[in-house]
Amino acid sequence: MITAHLPAGYLTGRAFARSGPILWSAMLGGILPDLDLIWFYLVDHRAFHHHHYWVHIPAFWAALAAILLPMAASRCPCWSRPALSFFASILVHLLLDTVAGDVKWLWPFSDRFIHLVTVPATHSHWILNFVLHPVFLAELAIWALALFLWGWRHRHEG
Ligand SMILES: [Zn+2]
Repeated sequence: MITAHLPAGYLTGRAFARSGPILWSAMLGGILPDLDLIWFYLVDHRAFHHHHYWVHIPAFWAALAAILLPMAASRCPCWSRPALSFFASILVHLLLDTVAGDVKWLWPFSDRFIHLVTVPATHSHWILNFVLHPVFLAELAIWALALFLWGWRHRHEG
């Protein structure tokens, strides 16, 4: 997934709330794993696929959620739903990355990357390969649904 993580985070957040910190935490969770691109470009100079980094490893987030979700619930119930929406968005991010990207779902048992669709390298730039592949329609659908719901909310709910 290239462009639709933010609207996917919005849609995930809408499953929990229509506005406020729950929605914002979901949107943060929707984009947070791809902040590794800063390290990927500026530090590692594209030496590794950024899905090797820990923020794209499902087991890392599962372990973190197993620790933080009970802590949030015990400290204050008001933290539970924002934390849950955040981790749900992380999960959605990794699932969407799995469609045409690669994610290490089996780590630490295997380093094998898993993806659902192989996008062939038929164009001069990898972005063109993705944008001109039918799988990009899923990104457009996510954007369309998120913008529709966002617009609906602002037109009808103020
Ligand atoms: Zn990602």
